[in-house]
Amino acid sequence: MIDLRSDTLTKPTREMLAAMTAAEVGDEQYREDPTVNELQRRMAELLGHEAALFVPTATMANQIALRAQTRPGSTIVAEERTHVLVYEAGGPAIHSGLMTRSLRGEQGRLTPEQIESEPDLGPGGIVVLENTHRSSGGRVWPLDEFRAAVDAAHERGATLHLDGARLFNASVAAGLPPSEWARHADSVTICFSKGLACPLGAVLASSAGVIERAWKGKFLFGGAMRQAGVIAAAALYALDHHIERLAEDHARAQRIDPEAETNFAVIEDAPGLQDRLREHGLLVGHLRPGRLRAVTYLGVSDADVDQAAAILDEVHVRA
Ligand SMILES: *Cc1c(COP(=O)(O)O)cnc(C)c1O
Repeated sequence: MIDLRSDTLTKPTREMLAAMTAAEVGDEQYREDPTVNELQRRMAELLGHEAALFVPTATMANQIALRAQTRPGSTIVAEERTHVLVYEAGGPAIHSGLMTRSLRGEQGRLTPEQIESEPDLGPGGIVVLENTHRSSGGRVWPLDEFRAAVDAAHERGATLHLDGARLFNASVAAGLPPSEWARHADSVTICFSKGLACPLGAVLASSAGVIERAWKGKFLFGGAMRQAGVIAAAALYALDHHIERLAEDHARAQRIDPEAETNFAVIEDAPGLQDRLREHGLLVGHLRPGRLRAVTYLGVSDADVDQAAAILDEVHVRA
């Protein structure tokens, strides 16, 4: 069976496990875990922010970012198929008391005009942009469009959070450092358990003041850990060994879908299609209504994607 449902299916490599075993650790809640501290320092620098915070999941990083930068009763504005609105179980309303304004965007992008015309957006509110944008098929935000959207949010007095769960995919695909997007945002989330192939872990980067407030959120949400250096070591290993190789995932996704920008191939859905593909030995995932995804990741080979493409042809589902 070729399993292309999600890049969360990566497993830690032997070398990553060795790095985890060798990690120097301390109590993270006392801020004394040297490996966590090193990861936070490196991530802040990489993303062009003052400080960073290590948390178990990117969902938690997003939710902490919302809570640390908004006031209850204010508005969150995001593209309608953004992770924070669709896959985080109502978190913006439950954890931060935010009203949701979801807007339809091309390729997951909001225009400055859309943000400017949001009547309730203002101080205490937040705009969330996603790069790469999952539900549009892992699309990359062009830098100039991203900056224009950020400026529009700031002109309204709102904060801008970048859900960069797959920002390193965007960075490798565009040939730009991740800070090129991240430094314009007030806060940014990175996920280590997708293409970076760690078993878990995420980081929130922002100003020193926001990260101090985020520490409170980490305790509130139960994300304060202890000898978390064992997992931070996996993330440090991934920064050194698993970033450039994302280009291989992107090239493999393109063998299935020539329009793939990163590691998602988009497949038009049809009734019973997922089951028929499964019968032929291929597992694909749900992308959005009407679309499926085949996602490449560490451990998926050229031969796997060629066979996946052959199965898709056989079942007559390629464009
Ligand atoms: C997966 C994902 C998240 C959440 O990551 P977890 O670590 O699974 O909580 C957030 N945003 C986007 C865009 C994602 O794809």
